[in-house]
Amino acid sequence: MSANKSLLILPGDGIGPEVMDQVVRIVDWFGKERALKFDLDDGLVGGAALDAEGAPLSDETLVKAEKADAVLFGAVGGPKWDKNPFDMKPERGLLRLRKDLGLFANLRPAICFEALASASSLKQELVAGLDIMIVRELTGGVYFGEPRGIKVLSDNTRRGVDTQLYTTPEIHRITRVAFELALKRRQLVHSAEKSNVMHTGMLWREEVAKVHEAEFKEIALRHILADNCAMQLVRAPKQFDVIVTDNLFGDILSDVAAMLTGSLGMLPSASLGEEDPATGKRNALYEPVHGSAPDIAGHGVANPLACVMSFAMALRYSFEQDDEADMLEGAVARVLAGGMRTADIMQENGSQVSTAVMGDAILQELEGIAG
Ligand code: NAD
Repeated sequence: MSANKSLLILPGDGIGPEVMDQVVRIVDWFGKERALKFDLDDGLVGGAALDAEGAPLSDETLVKAEKADAVLFGAVGGPKWDKNPFDMKPERGLLRLRKDLGLFANLRPAICFEALASASSLKQELVAGLDIMIVRELTGGVYFGEPRGIKVLSDNTRRGVDTQLYTTPEIHRITRVAFELALKRRQLVHSAEKSNVMHTGMLWREEVAKVHEAEFKEIALRHILADNCAMQLVRAPKQFDVIVTDNLFGDILSDVAAMLTGSLGMLPSASLGEEDPATGKRNALYEPVHGSAPDIAGHGVANPLACVMSFAMALRYSFEQDDEADMLEGAVARVLAGGMRTADIMQENGSQVSTAVMGDAILQELEGIAG
């Protein structure tokens, strides 16, 4: 890279700082050994920000996030803040980041390392080597559509309303993200909706098809009903490459796909904004799927690999460093193949290690791969 790229580190609460410490060691390693230098800055978010700054995300930290090339986020929350009013909950910090950075595309890979295939609830041969990418629309649909709310009617009946709503630009931009990802993968996109019973589903199917026809004809596109997609994910998950879907179905399908792979401690994610046509910059936030795990925080036993692989996604999607991302994911695979396990993924004959020792092992493998 010609100039240093900037990375904002927001460790958050609970195990967030514990797993992020290992990632920062890896970021430093890339700077020293691979001449891939990042300008690192950090900030508070969640409960830590509430305690020190009186809000789950300060305006100053938000400005830093807007300026950074990418944000690496740990996790937020914990019992200390559970009774806080809605706007003073730690999770509001993350929601503000997503909203103010315009992060409309949520990428959730479901990758099953060979060494962990036996930990899945599905048969080993169904999941070994699995590599799916779920692309979920994150800022539209039924979670945001108006009108919404609960009303008491004149006869005292209560009525709840949510509105599923999508416009063509919203569908087009998430569709493009999915096709662009597929170009670098196995060139197959499934678009999941409910066009059989929902108008938004019909619109979704038609607009995805239009983008495909106009811009990505070389990629195979298959339309699938979201309920069938859920079934197929547990029947034969390896038939999928990229799945693009709306906010609601994405919420559910990404959790189904994630659990095919075993532990929460292994799941990375990325959330991307729109590319600025003038500068080419795209806001991006990378975070493990898991939360702050208060039950194990402070014991040094958390699995850092979801956070490590979130950084690998940043290398790939914000910094176009595919080789370095492959190297880091390769190091994770080798460590797992060697039998090293944190407690959450512990198996018979594995050797159980702490968060920091898992970090040591990744660094050692990186040294080995770099030769
Ligand atoms: P959680 O993901 O924190 O933990 C669920 C279970 O998985 C726990 O038993 C935990 O010990 C285990 N676990 C999670 N990550 C692990 C890791 N890296 N290594 C080993 N074990 C791991 O979910 P929860 O318990 O429902 O929530 C705890 C707190 O986190 C709550 O305050 C919740 O609001 C918050 N939360 C935050 C985020 C986020 O920051 N994105 C996401 C989910 C939950």
